[in-house]
Amino acid sequence: MAKAVKKKKHIAERMCTVCRKRYPQKELMRFTMDQNNEAHIDLRGKSAGRGLYLCHEYACMEAVLHASGKRRPFNLHKDSRAILEGLHAKQKQIDCKKENRESDVLQLLGLARRANKLSLGFDATGEAIKSKEAKLVLIAGDVKENTLKKLRKVLELNPIQSVSLLNKEKLSKALGRGSLAICSVNDQGFSEAIMDILLGKKINSVEGNKESEVKNE
Ligand SMILES: [Zn+2]
Repeated sequence: MAKAVKKKKHIAERMCTVCRKRYPQKELMRFTMDQNNEAHIDLRGKSAGRGLYLCHEYACMEAVLHASGKRRPFNLHKDSRAILEGLHAKQKQIDCKKENRESDVLQLLGLARRANKLSLGFDATGEAIKSKEAKLVLIAGDVKENTLKKLRKVLELNPIQSVSLLNKEKLSKALGRGSLAICSVNDQGFSEAIMDILLGKKINSVEGNKESEVKNE
């Protein structure tokens, strides 16, 4: 268990007790055990004793709070349980918001597509960037490294905003094209609306937005 791993970087890493993924120590919750073998959350990360670490993934917190018997990584002291339950609920909200944001973006992309305001795929997107039609470039999170390099070169010469979001599968499905990793939004309004969602600015609904646009004209 006590395997010394030498790291080149200075960032101290620890492993989540549940998912066993390594994270920078500062990003993890630390727990220390008392004499009754109950874990206390160590919010300042300075309590003495051997620390157990937990990441902020919903499933990992869930395991500590609700797994039964041997599957439970450790027993929580009741005060710490209350704190972790709060964090767990907050994480659920964050995950939920992220899902909502994704579906809002996909909905807007669908509308933009019908309005013929998208260029799909590397070649078409490249053309749209060069001709200054593109206002925003969307890149699937799992784009191939080579494609990304080529795109970066185009963007270096023609700097416009680009964001990484979703994945090829979701983009392809939403826009009805096989294996879509890159597209551009060629409309200022749609670009801004998408960025607003991604930045967490509130817009009530796509429909509401349209109405206010009509009123402005
Ligand atoms: Zn974890």
